[in-house]
Amino acid sequence: MSRLDAPLATGFHAELPPWLVADLDSLADRPLGTPEERMDLVNELADRNWRAGNGGPFAAIVVDAASGALVSAGVNVVLSSGLSSCHAEVTALTLAQARLGRWDLGAGGADLELVVNWRPCVMCYGATMWSGVRRLTIAGDGPECEELTGFDEGPMHPDWVAEFERRGIRVVQDVRRDEAIAVFREYGASDAVVYNARGASEA
Ligand SMILES: [Zn+2]
Repeated sequence: MSRLDAPLATGFHAELPPWLVADLDSLADRPLGTPEERMDLVNELADRNWRAGNGGPFAAIVVDAASGALVSAGVNVVLSSGLSSCHAEVTALTLAQARLGRWDLGAGGADLELVVNWRPCVMCYGATMWSGVRRLTIAGDGPECEELTGFDEGPMHPDWVAEFERRGIRVVQDVRRDEAIAVFREYGASDAVVYNARGASEA
């Protein structure tokens, strides 16, 4: 585990998995006009992601809220990148910012929406808040994700939705909830790695 004899790092890099890169052109043509169409894509990417071994069963997209135009697509790449912050939301938001060349996705009155297959964890809650997106659409909010996958989402504020709304981020819930839970259930029943850091000492 010790790499402390390596030179100090000067940057870091994360990359979408090859199967998703190969599909990006076709995804850009996919109709994403409705919340259900957007979440169908997210659930599909989440399912493919864990089966491909890139990371957890999580995906996220950033779209133009009105038209559904795809701005970015992200999946959880914690395992493939070796970076614990590369959750799907952070990956999608960062790729959107990289593409648009700005840290504030709400600049100039842009109305961008982050679509994710469950409630954000504590880190992604903050990342979403600072990103400038004006909307968050989630498949669900509840204990099912943690119970079925074994991931720890951290101590979320009980009034997290109200806190978002107060900051001008609209939250839409329960879009394709059953389909999202089905992905978590399949993941939980598999031998996939759950990489919560608290288990690292056993590795
Ligand atoms: Zn997260």
